[in-house]
Amino acid sequence: MSASTDSSAGHPVLVVGAGPAGLSAALALRAAGLPAVVLERRTEGAVRPGSRAAYLHGASLRELERLSPGLGHEVAGRGLLWATKRSYWAGEEIYARTYPQTARGGLPHFTSLPQVITEDLMVAACRMQGVTFHWDVEVASARSTAEGVLLTDSAGREWRSDYVVAADGSRSVLRAACGSPLEGPRSPNTFVVVDLEDDPEHHPMPIERTFHYRHPDLGGRNVLTLPFAGGWRVDVNLRVDDDPMRFLSPEGLRRWIPRVLPEAYGERVRWVSTYRFAQQVAADFTDAHRRILLTGEASHLFAPFGARGMNSSIPDAVRAVGAVLQALEAGRDRAAAGAAVSRFAQERKEAALYNRACAGSALDHMLARSPSLWLRQRAAAAVATVGRRAGEWLDSAPYGPKLTARGAARSSY
Ligand SMILES: Cc1cc2nc3c(=O)[nH]c(=O)nc-3n(C[C@H](O)[C@H](O)[C@H](O)COP(=O)(O)OP(=O)(O)OC[C@H]3O[C@@H](n4cnc5c(N)ncnc54)[C@H](O)[C@@H]3O)c2cc1C
Repeated sequence: MSASTDSSAGHPVLVVGAGPAGLSAALALRAAGLPAVVLERRTEGAVRPGSRAAYLHGASLRELERLSPGLGHEVAGRGLLWATKRSYWAGEEIYARTYPQTARGGLPHFTSLPQVITEDLMVAACRMQGVTFHWDVEVASARSTAEGVLLTDSAGREWRSDYVVAADGSRSVLRAACGSPLEGPRSPNTFVVVDLEDDPEHHPMPIERTFHYRHPDLGGRNVLTLPFAGGWRVDVNLRVDDDPMRFLSPEGLRRWIPRVLPEAYGERVRWVSTYRFAQQVAADFTDAHRRILLTGEASHLFAPFGARGMNSSIPDAVRAVGAVLQALEAGRDRAAAGAAVSRFAQERKEAALYNRACAGSALDHMLARSPSLWLRQRAAAAVATVGRRAGEWLDSAPYGPKLTARGAARSSY
């Protein structure tokens, strides 16, 4: 079916964006027996730069498995598990823990792989489940009324639907159409994120996650090193007065990478970027008519520490589809339909605020701008090798609070 034919027909629901949120929404629609139509501005098969989400929680794997049986296992099978985590303070090891390798046959409690691979597997699952994709369709504007939504793409074609699941990322056109600004701060410091290709044959490295507080070979900056399937992520916390170009340029990379990884890795950089991480949540997750449902980065941006971006985009999308189903079932009962969408908007905004607070606490810990926190960290580092709890705290704080049962219920990730 061509896009122009399709666009003249009304759809019960359209999904905008084929990132993790949009693909999850499409799978959830098919799992519920509804047609799933996705509009995506990229060309089919175009690879997005950067590995971005490298860490997927077990809850996400279980959700993907539920949406498309086999998908969670496939993603986990392509990912990497590390059993050891280590923290250092000014070059001295202050904490290490190795977990036993348990082969329980179920899904692991996390996996680590490039986001592009996860997305490829999700697209393949979507095709298997009968999702229709319209690539090269960039939604340029949206207008919602009490009757539904009219989308216009950049080629001037119109697309009508009763509801829209908006999954069009951080610069969301749909969020703008809802008149719902992102609210919240941005980190004052810049972070450099580098992905490097693994070289297990010539330069094998222990498969461990390490966090260096005040790395002595990098001028006392904090450095996170994280393995993922096929590579390594290095995340450096720059100082406010650092010039990011010193770290980003090819010469800069060749200078500092060998200080934190074996020298050959200076030539194995595959992707590099700088971020001042946003900590922002949309004012409202829907429009005045309760027809557009904002999900994923269309509705929230978190610093990645604690891996709450993609991991929360999946439940956003699943809940949005649940609300659309209730609204469609409510039919002409406009109040009931609107109430279902309002519940979604409220629940996911609450989850986003919770996740932002967790990511914010990780960010504060890493920046350690308050003298009391800085002193607490120093004191903990001084006793960490004898006081297990101090080491545990320093090791876990860069990722935000542990997900307690209460937190899990509140955030549903
Ligand atoms: C360095 C870094 C590390 C990260 N690490 C993690 C991690 O370990 N774990 C984690 O959970 N998260 C992580 N994240 C966050 C994660 O990458 C995002 O949360 C996730 O990609 C959000 O998915 P999304 O579908 O909402 O948006 P996106 O992935 O941005 O997808 C949006 C899609 O919509 C399309 N689109 C945009 N505008 C339009 C339009 N007008 N019309 C049609 N299509 C459109 C885009 O082309 C794109 O395909 C990280 C992010 C960064 C930057």
